[in-house]
Amino acid sequence: MYFIVIFLQVTVNLFSKYNIENIAITESGKKVVNINKKNLLAPYYKLPRVSSVKIFVNFKNKRYSGKKNIKRKLNGSFFIRKINDKLFLFQKLELNDYVLGVLNSEIEDIDKIPLEALKAFYLIIKNYSLTHLKRHKKIGADFCDIAHCQLYYISKKHNSCKHGNSRSEYRNSPLRHERGLFHKKIYYHNTLAITPYSSSCGKYTCDSETIWNKAYPYLKGKKLNSVLDKWQYKLSKKDLIRIVGKNAINKLILKNGCVKNGENFRRKINQNLGWNKIKSNVFTIKEFKTYYLIKGSGFGHNVGFCIKEAILLANQRMNYKEIIKYFFKNVEIR
Ligand SMILES: [Zn+2]
Repeated sequence: MYFIVIFLQVTVNLFSKYNIENIAITESGKKVVNINKKNLLAPYYKLPRVSSVKIFVNFKNKRYSGKKNIKRKLNGSFFIRKINDKLFLFQKLELNDYVLGVLNSEIEDIDKIPLEALKAFYLIIKNYSLTHLKRHKKIGADFCDIAHCQLYYISKKHNSCKHGNSRSEYRNSPLRHERGLFHKKIYYHNTLAITPYSSSCGKYTCDSETIWNKAYPYLKGKKLNSVLDKWQYKLSKKDLIRIVGKNAINKLILKNGCVKNGENFRRKINQNLGWNKIKSNVFTIKEFKTYYLIKGSGFGHNVGFCIKEAILLANQRMNYKEIIKYFFKNVEIR
């Protein structure tokens, strides 16, 4: 049985780490635990199981301070670690509970999604998790709970935590009758396939080599039948020169609809001008007097699986195995 450790970020910005002052746990409104840096003497503290988990965190850093109320399902256990005089909050849970939790968090309206698309996405998340363990090994965690790794119950829709008393994800999952699926994984020959995914891919999916300079025989791009999430952005020449330099545009080469070096360019522009200005790696650029008009489609890096396109395929009566094989060349599901 696999266990996953998640590092609970109490911020939407991974790179401005809050300094947690204290963590309090309540049961029926009564405080049962209150941990701060001074009274946490051991480097590791496991929180007692209570009937409903409400965690209150006080945090402070140079720019922000405040309170955050985290409501979490009871799956697994919670613990606190003190590392370099900082408090970190973790949740440890079974792989399957984690995967179902990510599925529920990454998809807006889970009950409205066709079952075969959900089954495909479940396996994509599971393979992704198993092939990216220990992403935060410096602080002893596999994943964080924000988009840097995979979303895990951080959005507003989960604040009410209506399923909070369920001991397992199974009971409320649309996949609860699909137990056979829980034993399956995606393989390329005899190794677990790496399965990156995007919210949507627009006109094309891309070769992993084009986007990340790393080739996998099953991460091959293709032209899609639909064009979802069209977007455009006006990038002023002034901003271009300031952020990436004048020549950056010439270094972008279009290959099968995807922009080589696009990921690097996209990240730098977005970091400086706000997230999601350049939403994907499928775009074209047209020069005007004072700006470049960037037109693209899709939302994400465009390698591997595309959630919205998978839903379209399921609506066209493809089953989950066909959907996975549509995005990943020559893989097996077993
Ligand atoms: Zn992360």
